[in-house]
Amino acid sequence: MSRNAESTAFRSALEVIRGVEPRVAEAIGAELADQRESLKLIASENYASPATLLAMGNWLSDKYAEGTVGRRFYAGCQNVDTVEALAAEHARELFGAAHAYVQPHSGIDANLVAFWAILADRVEAPALKRAQARHVNDLTEQDWFALRRELGDQRMLGMSLDTGGHLTHGFRPNISGKMFDQRSYGTDPATGLIDYDRVAEAAREFRPLVLVAGYSAYPRKVNFRIMREIADSVGATFMVDMAHFAGLVAGKVFTGDFDPVPHAHIVTTTTHKSLRGPRGGLVLCGPELADQVDRGCPMVLGGPLPHVMAAKAVALAEARRPDFADYAGRIVDNAQALAEGLLRRGATLVTGGTDNHLVLIDVTGYGLTGRQAEQALLDSGIVTNRNAVPQDPNGAWYTSGIRIGTPALTTRGLGTAEMDTTAELIHTVLSQTGAGANPDGTASKAKYVLDPALADKIGRQASELLAGFPLYPSVDLG
Ligand code: PLP
Repeated sequence: MSRNAESTAFRSALEVIRGVEPRVAEAIGAELADQRESLKLIASENYASPATLLAMGNWLSDKYAEGTVGRRFYAGCQNVDTVEALAAEHARELFGAAHAYVQPHSGIDANLVAFWAILADRVEAPALKRAQARHVNDLTEQDWFALRRELGDQRMLGMSLDTGGHLTHGFRPNISGKMFDQRSYGTDPATGLIDYDRVAEAAREFRPLVLVAGYSAYPRKVNFRIMREIADSVGATFMVDMAHFAGLVAGKVFTGDFDPVPHAHIVTTTTHKSLRGPRGGLVLCGPELADQVDRGCPMVLGGPLPHVMAAKAVALAEARRPDFADYAGRIVDNAQALAEGLLRRGATLVTGGTDNHLVLIDVTGYGLTGRQAEQALLDSGIVTNRNAVPQDPNGAWYTSGIRIGTPALTTRGLGTAEMDTTAELIHTVLSQTGAGANPDGTASKAKYVLDPALADKIGRQASELLAGFPLYPSVDLG
């Protein structure tokens, strides 16, 4: 693809938008400039390709397409059928799954689709069956009450939030915490690793309907073969949410026991994190759950987003190319180089390192909360996010950790040498930042003290580091 075509496409798009609402065009241009300048270490973000981005900006967006390929509730969906079928085919081939459902709008939505499919499959519930058979708008109030009674006490066992699990795995702030009676498994306090014997014990005691594996902030591989054995031993459906590490599965970095697809009954993911696609989700499963999964819309999803499914098809096609496997391998090399660089400089890491795309720094070693560390790094041009660490003394808001990930910088082309420099920048900021105090003299969990001259200096060094690795080099907005 010529650089010229990509520049022309984005420039023209902005020109057209500018003609209607110039402030939107300005914000889009500013976002590119900001992303180009920041050292992005947010573990859940990436940079989608120009082809993926461009596939989203078109008239496919105008179509309603409730239903599935060839069975729509709206007329004229032949082109939506084409893109949805392509996205599903690429997903099946890429991950070696029997069935793929590519309509979920996000990871949360993909999980909801999976939960409803599992409930419909496993629970003898006449009201649920009635609900599944009808359009959601046709359900009466009595139907909903009956449904609530029937589903009231189903159980889910998932990874605890402080050890890296996700809100959608049965926690109260999410609807999954209201749909299921949830219990969580944690990690071994000494090693920070999942203790499979403890998971098995919890499963035996709690006897969940669903065992969930997958995480947002666990820096290690998970053995899905063992997790499946645990699920089977108590008759649970085994679900894996691979939102964070789908790119490592796609790129064949996680194989055998560490590839969830052959071991789980159902797998969900986002498409925009390490997988490097558009914002969205998808569900993979075997034939047993396929029918229920395909009822995701309208059961729990709004109408499909055909333009995003087109972009999923493009991104999944990219992920099937050999260079994606190379990319996935470099994500992990970079995370390990970053971890080693931090450890060498004295940082404390949860589990002592990483074997995936993310590193979790316990910043209490620097005398800081996660909130203080996150802000001090941001002042210095380094974008990360705060995260709880196991048994976090500072709770889920202030936290004691900083989660950093390498998918985005790896897309940009940075390698292990640059990761060492990045470790140096992070360590310098954290070791030079002091905890602040409240006006009454008590310790603050949010305020911090960082010399602005140092923050500027680190910011300049971060920019210099990035200058050698231009972001979207094919796109010149003029
Ligand atoms: N599942 C996991 C493991 C995640 O980390 C996330 C997002 O951070 C989600 C689901 C939700 O994804 P989304 O924000 O696309 O709804």
